[in-house]
Amino acid sequence: MDKQAIIEGLRALLGPDRVQDDPEIIRKASMDYIGFRQYERFDGKDWVPKAACVVKPLSTEEVSRALAFLNRNRIDTVPRTGGSSVTLSIEPEEGGVILDGSGMNGIVALNERDMMVTAKCGTPLEYLENYLNERGFTTGHFPQSLPLAHLGGLAATRSIGQFSTLYGGIEDLVMGLEAVLADGEVVRIKNSPRRSVGPDLRHLFIGSEGMLGFITELTLKLFRYTPETRWMRAWTVRDMDEGLNLIREVMTAGYRPAVVRLHDAEEVQRMFSGSIPEDRAALLFLAEGPGAVAAATGQGIAEIAGSRGAVDLGTRPVESWLKIRNDVCSHMDEPVYYRYGVVADTCEISAPWSGIGEIYKAVRERLPREMPNLVSIGGHSSHSYIQGTNIYFTFGFIVKNGAESARTDYMKVISAIMEETLKRGGSIAHHHGSGKYRTRWMPEEHGSSYALLRKIKEALDPNRILNKGVLLAD
Ligand SMILES: Cc1cc2nc3c(=O)[nH]c(=O)nc-3n(C[C@H](O)[C@H](O)[C@H](O)COP(=O)(O)OP(=O)(O)OC[C@H]3O[C@@H](n4cnc5c(N)ncnc54)[C@H](O)[C@@H]3O)c2cc1C
Repeated sequence: MDKQAIIEGLRALLGPDRVQDDPEIIRKASMDYIGFRQYERFDGKDWVPKAACVVKPLSTEEVSRALAFLNRNRIDTVPRTGGSSVTLSIEPEEGGVILDGSGMNGIVALNERDMMVTAKCGTPLEYLENYLNERGFTTGHFPQSLPLAHLGGLAATRSIGQFSTLYGGIEDLVMGLEAVLADGEVVRIKNSPRRSVGPDLRHLFIGSEGMLGFITELTLKLFRYTPETRWMRAWTVRDMDEGLNLIREVMTAGYRPAVVRLHDAEEVQRMFSGSIPEDRAALLFLAEGPGAVAAATGQGIAEIAGSRGAVDLGTRPVESWLKIRNDVCSHMDEPVYYRYGVVADTCEISAPWSGIGEIYKAVRERLPREMPNLVSIGGHSSHSYIQGTNIYFTFGFIVKNGAESARTDYMKVISAIMEETLKRGGSIAHHHGSGKYRTRWMPEEHGSSYALLRKIKEALDPNRILNKGVLLAD
């Protein structure tokens, strides 16, 4: 089907105002926050594949009609909501369609008795969180992209927030959801505190990155909002090894602080210059909840940190991190490093305690050796569990020779991180998802269970119209 026929067909179905074919609107909807945006500035070339149009449905019924049409005509379709992805996951296929749920926003129901809130897929998380805080509740979900991301994308990427050690990732927060399958069929998974009725079908959509269906509505758990009882404290430790061991001790002792962060010396220099010795790693903890629980958690952590010789820095570093933690979102369109001809990004992986420190060291040793144009490689751990933690690598390199070299070098960094992680039994994406960047490592990540993903795709999207190249290589 040619572009004009797609546009006319969708307009006839949904009305002219739901289908936008303005090239600038299409371009903006076609780029995530890293991907092609990083390369374009080096050669002015238009890197983005040209979609036929952006479809902006306003109801589940409209999503259903649009998908039935797209499926019947086998048109490549990319779901999106907030567009804050960083893994090349919302870039369309040439001539395909972008199905943009950002117009489907609003809170459907606040159920205070059952501690749940239901909202549409395009509801900005920041709006929802403010609405809940005013009423004494929180979702407990605070990704750094809080000002950018919407609920549909947050669930579809299996996102996580900065307070995850207490509240969990989005997979722990979604009670139930509604989604539309590739052929237009609407399915609803009901809300339940827990049930034993077969496999948990929520997980077909949580983390599916738009390749198994379009999420239209979500119900999230609520918690009491208690910022007044917060306990916080920071320490320095010699290095990442010492910090990781200390976190492991806190977690295995049974404490559940909300925030657990360990920044290496490279990041300390950038984030806490002047307030923390720059050759050491920094540990930040924050506990919240009922006052007595937060205080006891704090006391337990302080005892462990003291017994391990960590140097107490008081509350200031945590207070200052709380203030600046999402600032990056307000200059994503023109980050400072653009001025210096640098490409910078993050890449997050996870591993059990037995592998995580080795992965960190291997990447830090390998990248400077292989990339003379690397200007920084650091990392932090920010989401901890009893069994292990994540490392969020932060890197930057000078672009040697235009956009192609930027892309090659970018993939060199990602490849090194993926390979060193897989070698040591880690997982290659802790919370940003696969996007198109990481698809080629998915067979190794999943092993024999990868066949299940392929079979599920065949069952739910036999014409393979949804988000081609993400998670599954074609
Ligand atoms: C500065 C910055 C900081 C970030 N910090 C974090 C962080 O702390 N934690 C974290 O987890 N992530 C973080 N991210 C990544 C990003 O914000 C998350 O992946 C977020 O969940 C994406 O939500 P979105 O609404 O913007 O989704 P989009 O970018 O619109 O889409 C992301 C993916 O979800 C799919 N999708 C979107 N909507 C739907 C839908 N309705 N139905 C089905 N599939 C859909 C898309 O096809 C795509 O694969 C950060 C990004 C930036 C730019």
